[in-house]
Amino acid sequence: MEKLLVSRCLLGHKVRYDGGAHGPFDLLQRWQEEGRIVALCPEVAGGLPTPRPPAEIPGGQGAQVLDGSQPVLTNRGEDVTAAFVAGAEIALQLVRQHGLRVAVLKARSPSCGNTHNYDGSFSGTLIEGEGVTAALLRRAGVRVFNESQLAEAAAELARLEQCS
Ligand code: SF4
Repeated sequence: MEKLLVSRCLLGHKVRYDGGAHGPFDLLQRWQEEGRIVALCPEVAGGLPTPRPPAEIPGGQGAQVLDGSQPVLTNRGEDVTAAFVAGAEIALQLVRQHGLRVAVLKARSPSCGNTHNYDGSFSGTLIEGEGVTAALLRRAGVRVFNESQLAEAAAELARLEQCS
């Protein structure tokens, strides 16, 4: 049975920066019952508290954070890059430990977003980009989906199971 990594906030865990959560999502609930889900909040795993100040990547590209060319900054200007990178590395460790090839991560997060991100101006401006964890997992060959792509994630899980 193919397992997957899932953002904890999508499972109802109150780990969002503002203490909130998301869901429920029927497919995620089913996968949890089937024992497929490895749950992680990269920001909490990286050592940040909940609640915590909102953070953004100037330019919105998690890959640039991994390369050291951009920081992750809170809305107060505090540099939280180290915690974001630590959380991404823990995600990668889990992926390797469990042999995961699929992830469902929260959209538009500076850690988890897979297609769009806020631009670093804290003005609500979305641009194409991905979070730090999403970028590291994609580099490692993981197929990263978000909560509006659950059908695509299910199709990928089914495809992988057919192939193995
Ligand atoms: Fe944690 Fe990712 Fe959810 Fe943010 S989006 S609360 S980092 S799991």
